[in-house]
Amino acid sequence: MSEFSWQRAVIKVGSALISPDGHQCSAKYLLAIARFITESREQGKQVIIVSSGSVAAGRSVIAHKTHPSIAEKQAMAAVGQMQMMENWSRFFDFPCAQVLLTYDDFHDRSRYVNIKNTVRELLNNNVLPIVNENDTVTTDKLKVGDNDNLSAMVAAAADADALIICSDIDGLYNKNPHDHDDAELLKKVDTIDASIYAMAGGAAEGGVGTGGMRTKIEAAEKAVSHGIDT
Ligand code: GLU
Repeated sequence: MSEFSWQRAVIKVGSALISPDGHQCSAKYLLAIARFITESREQGKQVIIVSSGSVAAGRSVIAHKTHPSIAEKQAMAAVGQMQMMENWSRFFDFPCAQVLLTYDDFHDRSRYVNIKNTVRELLNNNVLPIVNENDTVTTDKLKVGDNDNLSAMVAAAADADALIICSDIDGLYNKNPHDHDDAELLKKVDTIDASIYAMAGGAAEGGVGTGGMRTKIEAAEKAVSHGIDT
């Protein structure tokens, strides 16, 4: 990180950090991230958060079976989004703004321009934008689906020069560290190719989040194609 200089960053925070127990929001990991954001802003840098956690945060409020239906998940997101925003707001002395986006918003020219203009206006007014997918209105076919890819799309729209993905894993390992004791952490990746995707494995299973390492590599590839260090 010390070699990594930036002026405007998107910081993506996954459900595993927002809601480590998968049921409600927690301060456990966010305190340190919030402090990093506050200190970065004090140095004149600009930050946009992409935060997951709405579905996990609303889970305990909406009655459901082991596998919630789409409508149940959308209701969880509607409740949990407020809890997630409240949870973030209490860490900051400056205002936060909720920005809810869908896949379509990035593929319609006038909406895309609106995203850019609104985010710029928020940053100019020292407001901290907190972005999530608008899970309550999107269906699987029309979703970005995971906030890793969403964060890369936000970083490009916001003309960020860095994307920082915070997760419950230290980084990319050459094999899955949960299964292999000898897995090695790759400190730097210069080129993303098939061998890097092979290290990332498939989608995450069983956790509170959606993505896994694969969607993080996809996000890095997208961001880097716009010149955004990840
Ligand atoms: N938008 C989802 C939520 O807030 C998270 C998607 C993801 O885990 O990447 O629950």
